[in-house]
Amino acid sequence: MKTKESDTKTYLGMPLYRPKVGFFEFSSCEGCQLQIVNNESTLLDFLSLVEVVSFREAMTEKSDDYEIAFIEGSITRDDEVKRLKRIRKNAKILVALGSCACFGGVNQLKNRFKNLNWVKKEVYGRHPVDTEPVRAVEDVVKVDLKIYGCPVKKEEVEKSVLHIALGKSIEIPKYPVCMECKANENICLFDLGELCLGPVTRAGCNSWCPNSRAGCWGCRGPADDANVEYMKKIMKEKGFSEEAILERLECFGGFADFLKRKK
Ligand code: SF4
Ligand code: SF4
Ligand code: SF4
Repeated sequence: MKTKESDTKTYLGMPLYRPKVGFFEFSSCEGCQLQIVNNESTLLDFLSLVEVVSFREAMTEKSDDYEIAFIEGSITRDDEVKRLKRIRKNAKILVALGSCACFGGVNQLKNRFKNLNWVKKEVYGRHPVDTEPVRAVEDVVKVDLKIYGCPVKKEEVEKSVLHIALGKSIEIPKYPVCMECKANENICLFDLGELCLGPVTRAGCNSWCPNSRAGCWGCRGPADDANVEYMKKIMKEKGFSEEAILERLECFGGFADFLKRKK
């Protein structure tokens, strides 16, 4: 993936800033990184934008000389804290990649259990591992940019990197998934008797799940100004149980602040 000076790209005749980037996984399923390597149709264009110097899932070479660090996964161990701090020191820009990195993701569900020793025993039995309550990346180090989703949308990652390379601002949708769902002319799942967090979840996935007639589980976290309390009231009026609503709001960790507020 290394390039020579003569490979320098230009845009309107100007040399294009081609940042060195590293991808680093923490506690995760590595599905977000897989999204990047799976994007075969535009992968070569993406690689012409950046110089990838570390990406365990895709290459054997490693380097600490990078400007942008993409962090996938949540932080669940002490050695991860140390490693993350080292990466933060090396990087000019640190990007939280995906719901695990942004909010703790599905991993944070274990934080519901007060007795972590019991959880460790149930999960690992006689082979205990060193695991602490799950934290989002920004709970440990400063995060410059969050790219939401479980998994991230590869187009959004590429667009963000392109904007960094061109020095343009990065706009993440502030509005909810319902806007995209309506634009896609889907039948609203509430009309089919199903639960959906689209009205309060940040758009940007092009209503991925409702397009396939599956309700949104809020993997991109809350939209700006999301009225979660009112949404809960409407869901209850439509006959959904408190348990079903909480299960959905708790799933990816993005709505944790709203759930805390209620306690
Ligand atoms: S956000 Fe989802 S896809 Fe990405 S690493 Fe976490 S669990 Fe996997
Ligand atoms: S299906 Fe979900 S995202 Fe689509 S309009 Fe209905 S509530 Fe909104
Ligand atoms: S519809 Fe909801 S759960 Fe599905 S990808 Fe979009 S934000 Fe995530």
